[in-house]
Amino acid sequence: MHKTEHDVITSPDDVALDRLCQSLKEAADRRHGPDDWPADSLAACAAAGVFRWFLPESLGGLGWDDLKQTKGYLKLAAADLTTTFVITQFSGACRRIAGSENRVVGERWLAPLIAGDAFATVGISHLTTSRRHLENPVLGVAAEPDGGFRMNGAAPWVTGAAHADVIVVAGTMEDGRELLAAVPTDLPGVGCGGGAELVALSASCTDQVTLDDVLITAEMVLAGPIADVMRSGVGASTGGFQTSTLAIGLARSAVDYLFHESTRRDELVMVAERLAVQVDELEQRLLTAASGGPCDAGELRADANRLVMRTTQAAMTAAKGAGFVEGHPVGRWCREALFFLVWSCPQPVASAQLCELAGIAS
Ligand SMILES: Cc1cc2nc3c(=O)[nH]c(=O)nc-3n(C[C@H](O)[C@H](O)[C@H](O)COP(=O)(O)OP(=O)(O)OC[C@H]3O[C@@H](n4cnc5c(N)ncnc54)[C@H](O)[C@@H]3O)c2cc1C
Repeated sequence: MHKTEHDVITSPDDVALDRLCQSLKEAADRRHGPDDWPADSLAACAAAGVFRWFLPESLGGLGWDDLKQTKGYLKLAAADLTTTFVITQFSGACRRIAGSENRVVGERWLAPLIAGDAFATVGISHLTTSRRHLENPVLGVAAEPDGGFRMNGAAPWVTGAAHADVIVVAGTMEDGRELLAAVPTDLPGVGCGGGAELVALSASCTDQVTLDDVLITAEMVLAGPIADVMRSGVGASTGGFQTSTLAIGLARSAVDYLFHESTRRDELVMVAERLAVQVDELEQRLLTAASGGPCDAGELRADANRLVMRTTQAAMTAAKGAGFVEGHPVGRWCREALFFLVWSCPQPVASAQLCELAGIAS
């Protein structure tokens, strides 16, 4: 990543975060396909200390709690969903590495990762949402006699794979136990796709990673082999509010657009105000949840999905044909909103969404 100058952000209310978001927003408007990996925006985030939000001070981080992280993510997502999404996958990898009992991995990777000198990502969805209907696991693991493991197969979805130095990958043993490992991408047998053309977020360079008889030594193992490896360990995700956070951030950018348009079009004032109240309310529920208050993560996700679809489509309706021309941000937001229908979408949320679309009472 390139080095850039940026003030270090000290809290989610810091004007330095607003300045960073402004530069992310401008860069987001110029991005299109997998050739547009957001290296500069990620470098700006690293320089502003964003990568340190997610780690404890003892490991060189800033130790932001869930509430501060959520507030920070809301602003980033409203400015630039692609870069923010890439950061979620990066921070997921960092948290897993930092939380592992195997300190060797952290000692090797955490300092360059936090500094923005190396990039990490995750390939884990095949343990939770992706390809679950298949008979055989897509990524198999076999034990080696000397304590290591061999991985064979593919991680079907890995964001920024071609730009990663290390990928946190999960695989399944024949007996069903699972292994989580930090796999350096320069190991023999690791093949990273360059990035698929997607409906949106193509610049996230998401693609499959193949593992052909890759030798995983004990120093690379983060957790396992055990049952349900993703539920184990300190770096495990805590209830899945991140996807909803990004959806609400995107909804906010659509509402801000409506407000901006309403300054010259009276008929939009009421619509912008009404939708803004709904974004405010959902954001409040999210922040309550992030503070440890009661919240059904599935319900929040379903509401965030509905809201991001409605707000972006309202923005398109207001932008008219101009919004439908390639390059207009509103068109991009509408495509980005579709991402929340598929990204780590829990089956009950997806099923409820299908019933709603079909007019079936649940
Ligand atoms: C842009 C993007 C970036 C992502 N980045 C990452 C990442 O960095 N790391 C990560 O771990 N994950 C990532 N994911 C994965 C994501 O979180 C989900 O796991 C993924 O979107 C699930 O979709 P799938 O096509 O793999 O699902 P699948 O369930 O595998 O469905 C694929 C197809 O299989 C068929 N099918 C589905 N269910 C059944 C069934 N029950 N019976 C028969 N056929 C069936 C359907 O034809 C369906 O189209 C990313 C996804 C996207 C879209």
